[in-house]
Order: sequence, then structure tokens, then C-alpha cells
Amino acid sequence: MKPFTYERADSLAQAAMALTKPGAKLIAGGTTLLDLMKLQVETPTHLVDINRLPLDKIEDTPDGGLRIGAMVRNSDLAADRRVRQRYGVLSRALLAGASAQLRNKATTGGNLLQRTRCYYFYDVTKPCNKRDPGSGCAALEGFNRIHAILGASDQCIAVNPSDMAVAMRALDARVETVDADSATRAIPIAQFHRLPGDTPQIETTLKRGEIITAVSLPPPPTGKQIYRKVRDRASYAFALVSVAAIVDAAGGTIRSARLAFGGLAPKPWRVAPAEQRLIGASASEKTFDAVASDVLVGARGHGGNDFKIPLARRTLRAVLAEASLT
Ligand code: SF4
Repeated sequence: MKPFTYERADSLAQAAMALTKPGAKLIAGGTTLLDLMKLQVETPTHLVDINRLPLDKIEDTPDGGLRIGAMVRNSDLAADRRVRQRYGVLSRALLAGASAQLRNKATTGGNLLQRTRCYYFYDVTKPCNKRDPGSGCAALEGFNRIHAILGASDQCIAVNPSDMAVAMRALDARVETVDADSATRAIPIAQFHRLPGDTPQIETTLKRGEIITAVSLPPPPTGKQIYRKVRDRASYAFALVSVAAIVDAAGGTIRSARLAFGGLAPKPWRVAPAEQRLIGASASEKTFDAVASDVLVGARGHGGNDFKIPLARRTLRAVLAEASLT
């Protein structure tokens, strides 16, 4: 590990100001950052500890939604009675992620910022445009079983590893931030994560010195909520394909649907035409197949991950069949 200095922030303003310095990084739960520092994938020169900031509350909002502080631990969020009753898709997605020990430390803000699990990103002897811009992408011609089939570029085909963010995408969450000038923003989660394009090292739309303070959820949408995760083993594994679905159906007809996908793309993936096709449609295999085709428009495998295309289709069909049972 490379030497670094350490500072414990007593206020958001102090943390945001410290974060504007070159080489500075925030540390919250540390469940991703410490691993990356030990491997010298991340080499911050200054760590700003935000564990004492009062950002660990889950609060009801006047419109019937919830505001989740950035420091709320994943285990506390999954167990919260309001989340379990009204946002079951989020609770299940959280419990599908990592291990109990990691969920006890990992935070809401940190989960949104976790880095990819691409093997080559973690191996500093291999070219990786995300870790070392311009060096190439070892995954393109390498072992790419876990990589993206949608939204990738010829610079990077890594996927976003978060389960939580997939559920939040289905729920239309907003990411609240503050910067060193005390300016605040509420970023729709659809605009929070970036596609890689020519700059895969830039993963979010956060600016330097901008800190996540909370995630706000609008009132829960009507319908059955499902989170289905397909992975290589039953626990403590990242998604090959995951689906967060919120489907309102009655009498064999679907009234509304929201579908977000993990394991397929560099950001939680949502396809508006697929959801629109389901409105007023009968819950049939034919409908589900057509919706899967909408979701997979432009899907492209890279050899090792070709199987994700039929896997995503089958997983979505199964989720829609379960969700539309009344
Ligand atoms: Fe790096 Fe992205 Fe290529 Fe993985 S897929 S090696 S993270 S550039």
C-alpha cells in the first residue's frame, strides 16, 4: 500500500473542501476502497473519513417517499420496516449483494460508487483503460464471462456491480449531493452513472469535491416488486444477470411495468420501449418474448459472455410470468 494522509471530517463542508484537493478520496465503509488500495489499483494520497457525519438516517418525506442518508449501512437499509413493506425490491436487492459482514459496513453512498469487478481492472500488470487510460482493454480479447453486452464501448466492456443501484433505478431514485460551495443537486439515478465511451475512467456525473448526502425515493409505485439475481453461486457473487421488476397486473393484463437490469451494462439498464410495450398487454409468452427483444436491442457478446443474451431473455420471461400472476 502506498503512503497516504488521513483526516476525519467533522462537517460536510470540511469533507467537500478536503475532497477538492488532488489525490483526495472519501472513505466511508471502505469495503471497496481498502481492497483497491492494497492492490494499488487506487492510490489516494489523502483519505477523508466521513463516518462521523450525521448522514445515517432514513426519513419519511412529505410526498410519501423515503430519504436515505448516504451513510446508512446496507444491512440497516435492507432491514428497515418501511423499506421492506413499501420498497421490497430494494430490500431484496440489498440482501442479494455481498455478505452479511460487508453489508454491515457498506454504505448507501459507497454502494453507488463501487468500482467494477472486471478481473483485469484489479490486476495492475494488465492493460485497462479504466485504471490506466489509454493502456488498452485486456477484457476485449480476454476472459470476459462477466462483462457487458449492452452499453459498452471499444474502450471498456465492464459492468456496474451494484444490486442496490438496479433496484433504485427501477424506483426512479434521485441522488442528492453537496459540493465545496454548498451547492446542492438531486441527480436522477438514470443520469448518475455514465457509459464508458472514450473515458471509462469517469464513472459518474459527480464533479470534483461533490459528495453524496442522500438518496431519495419517490412514493412506491403500484404493483408487485421482484428482484431476481442469476449468479454463479447462491451467495456472495456478483450478478451475471439481474432484474428488478415492478409490475402492476390484473386479470391477465399488465397495467404498468418498470424493469431495470444488472450484470448486463456499465450502468443499471432500463429500456423505455420495453416497458411501454407491456402497458395494456396480455401476460403471455409472446408478449414477454417481444419485451425481451426490446431490452436486448443492440446486445453484443464478446465470446465469453455470449451466453448472457439468452440468459437475460429467459430470466426476464420468468420474472414477468411471476410478476403478472394475480
Ligand atoms: Fe479495464 Fe474496462 Fe477493459 Fe475491464 S473491461 S480491462 S475495466 S477497460
